This record gives sequence, structure tokens and C-alpha cells, in this order.
Amino acid sequence: EDCSGTAENGFMLPEVKFTKLFINGSFVDAVSGKTFETIDPRTGDVIAEIASGDKEDVDLAVAAARDAFDDGKWPRLPGYQRGRIMMKFADLIEQHVEELAVLECIDSGKPLLVSKLVDFPSVISMFRYYAGAADKIHGETLKLAQELQGYTLKEPIGVVGLIIPWNYPMLMFALKVAPALAAGCTMIVKPAEQTPLTALYCAHLAKQAGIPDGVLNVVTGFGRTVGAAISSHMDVDKVSFTGSTETGRVVMEAAARSNLKSVSLELGGKSPLLIFDDADIDMAGEICVAGSRVFVQEGIYDEFVKKIALSSKEWIVGDPFDPRVNQGPQVDKRQFDKILSYIDHGKREGATLLTGGKPCGEKGYYIEPTIFTDVKDDMLIAKDEIFGPVMSLMKFSTVEEAIQRANYTKYGLAAGIVTKDLNIANRVSRSIRAGIIWVNCYFAFDNDCPFGGYKMSGFGRDSGLHALEKYLKVKSVVTPIYGSPW
Ligand code: NAD
Repeated sequence: EDCSGTAENGFMLPEVKFTKLFINGSFVDAVSGKTFETIDPRTGDVIAEIASGDKEDVDLAVAAARDAFDDGKWPRLPGYQRGRIMMKFADLIEQHVEELAVLECIDSGKPLLVSKLVDFPSVISMFRYYAGAADKIHGETLKLAQELQGYTLKEPIGVVGLIIPWNYPMLMFALKVAPALAAGCTMIVKPAEQTPLTALYCAHLAKQAGIPDGVLNVVTGFGRTVGAAISSHMDVDKVSFTGSTETGRVVMEAAARSNLKSVSLELGGKSPLLIFDDADIDMAGEICVAGSRVFVQEGIYDEFVKKIALSSKEWIVGDPFDPRVNQGPQVDKRQFDKILSYIDHGKREGATLLTGGKPCGEKGYYIEPTIFTDVKDDMLIAKDEIFGPVMSLMKFSTVEEAIQRANYTKYGLAAGIVTKDLNIANRVSRSIRAGIIWVNCYFAFDNDCPFGGYKMSGFGRDSGLHALEKYLKVKSVVTPIYGSPW
């Protein structure tokens, strides 16, 4: 089966300059000397050999981060100065965006244009946003009992471990590194093993920008080695994790068993999108590409199914370097196999395959956009996070039913509503237990907008000033005032 639009273009593999661990301001081999392969998902070919970190490397990185924290050269720098260095870091990322976007594309399979026009502009502005916040961190004054007064200080939490997934390699890096830097923390970043290239490149830019050695360390490797060593480390003060719910639980357990480090988790989702009878059906069609459980009200259901089947034919799967392409390959073979097995499961459970359902292309990890109808709420494809181009369409009749079924999930990451009825929009927004609700839009983000889960989608917020708080601790200072009339 051919993939419509797969480009036979002459894109050369970029030179991969940074493949080693970045510890204390230098690129170094893993103590063990081991490496792992990072793969081009378009072909399954090896892009580069990357240093494979382990506990010893995490120990070195944590020691460097601890020294950098304790000597105060980052946390005690005036916020304004930290902000200036972060601005420079953002400028350098902007200057190298062409090269970075190509690396991201080849490592993750994400369309180059999406990376260049959506992800990287967000990354750059995210660093600038938190750079601007670095000198606006302050506590409160407290008028306490009669002869006491107090104030609070917000202090950086210390050495933080930042563990990130492969779906937005650079954006996840920015979402965690930028507020942690602004807060004055020092850190160990662990990129996903599927997508280590851009984080390493940015480590080099961080040094050029003037971020002191030891403040930002990047340890590449696997979850069970590097990730586990970070989350169980006795000298890491906080771990901020984005990934699957399953792994989030392991991270939290490790934190509890070691030093009770603070934890925040951004986990999986199975986000509902509710399309009501009065919706602008074209808008609903455009929005729903990102929905995994799409509930459509009965009055427009049949028309909607026809429309979506047609528009899925215009959806181009192929080489992520081709500017016409909407969807690249899945990130790796494991993910590819997992998605196909869910599709198989859906068929066996009795859902109807409306479109797609198969791999495409001669090589690489491409999967057709897949839509199921006649999906029941209890089917596995409606309950589990598939994390691939698979959508389940469901029909509903009343608002109450829509709310109840939308909430019928262990997750609570996001939800979407398409309606012109203001009261339905408001009512449903308040009734759905999820961290972000999009009304007549989907996947709309901004630096100032907090994002994170309810229920088993986790806790703690990325983005916005809420995220800054995750990397700060509050200290109260109390002192008596003698003879105060108040
Ligand atoms: P994953 O949980 O397998 O991996 C995420 C990261 O955790 C990787 O860096 C991995 O190496 C590391 N890791 C794995 N095992 C570990 C362990 N035992 N200890 C510590 N770290 C470990 O998830 P994935 O399959 O790479 O990513 C996809 C998942 O991420 C999806 O479930 C998706 O929904 C979720 N995700 C959530 C958000 C959000 O904001 N809530 C954003 C993006 C992705």
C-alpha cells in the first residue's frame, strides 16, 4: 500500500554534532562507555549513536547541579540577570532554528513545517516568557497575631530532575527547563530515548548563552536507567515528569521510597470532544482531527460521519520533510506496533472501521489516519490512550448524556466543545473534569495558559505562572514587634 504524498526528496541527513552527555558544562561519554541508537522513523535507519547514561552519570550530573546550586551562581543571581541570560538562550535557539527543526523532524517524524512554524516559535517565546518572570518572584507580608509580623520568601526548590517524552521533544524541554531556570533551580534533563538530539543541541546553546556550568545538565539514556536514577536520587529535590500514567506511578513510588522529593506529573489522556447539533460542522471537522473520543449529537451525526470520511482522504501521510504532509511516521517500531494492535482490537471488539486501519508506505512507521464508528464506551479503544492517529466516533442525544460519557474515563487532561450555545458551552466546561477545556477550538495554547491533568492525567501545571510555582518553595519568616498598638 502506498502512502499518498510520500516524498522522494533529496533531504540529506543533517550532521549530528552533539551525541554525548552534557554534565557540568562539558560533553562527556557515559561512564560505562555505552551508547544507544537513535532511529529515523521514516526508514528505521540509525541516525546516530548517543551516550547511554546510567546511575553513575546521574550521580555526576546531580553533584554538578548541587554544587552549582550551593555556590549560588545561578539561584542568587538577581532575577533580572537570570532573565537576560535566558533571553540570550532564546535568541540563540531562534538563530539555530533551521538546524534544530531538521533534527527534531528526523528524530521524531514530526512534519518539518509544524516543527518550524508551531513548536519552535512556542519554544522560543516560552523562554522569553519565563525570562520576563524571573525578576517578578516575590512573597507576601503577613500581619500576624498582635505582636508578630511575618513575610514569605519564595526560594528555588533546589536540584530538579526533568523527565520528558518524545511527542514534543523541544516544547517539553522548554516547558520544564524555562520555569526551572527562571526560579533559580539547577537541573538534570532526561530527554526521551527516542528523541535526544535537540535537547543535546540546546545544552550547547545554553552554555553559549552564559548559563553557568552545572546549572543545566542533560543525561541521555533509558527510563529504567537514567529516569529511575533521577527519581530515586537522594539529592534531587523535585522531579517534574511528563509521560505515560504507568511510568508516572513508578516515578512517584521512587520519590516516596527515596527522599520524598516533590513530584509533579503530566500524564496520559483520553480527551473527549463534544460536538453539538448547532455546531458549525466545518469547524467541528477541522477541530476533530486531534480528538481521540469524538462525541457527536444525533442530529448531525450522519452528516458529520460523511464529512469526516471525505476529509480524511485529503489528509496526507508521508515524509515529514514534504511541506504538503499533515502526518509523519510514528516515532518508533514499538509505538507503531502498539497502535496497530489497538486497531486490531477495535475491529475484534465490534467497532466499525470507517477509514484507514493499516500501515502505509514501503518502509518506516507510517499508519493511515484511522476512524472507528459504532464505538461503545467500554471498548478498549475508547478507554485506553492509543497515542496515534486513531479516532473513535460516538453518538449522543442529550447534554446530560454527553457530560456523563465524556467524564467516563480515568483521565482528565483536556476536552473540547463545539457549539454556538453559550449556556451549553459554559455548563459543559464546568462539568467536565479536565485541566483544559477548548470551546470552539482545539489544541489552542499560550505561554500564559496553565496546562495539566485532573484525575489520572496527573497533577501540577506546566505553562503559565502556575508552572513557576512548581519550582519554588515558600519560606515564612516571623518576627515580633514590641509595643505595636495593632
Ligand atoms: P513514557 O512514560 O514511557 O516515557 C516518558 C519518559 O519517561 C521518557 O523519557 C522515558 O525514558 C522515561 N521513563 C520511562 N520509564 C521510566 C522510569 N521507570 N523511571 C523514570 N523515567 C522513566 O511515555 P512515552 O511513551 O515516552 O510518552 C507518551 C506518553 O506521554 C503518553 O502517555 C502521553 O499522553 C504522555 N504525555 C503527556 C503529556 C501531558 O502534558 N500530560 C504530554 C505529552 C505526553
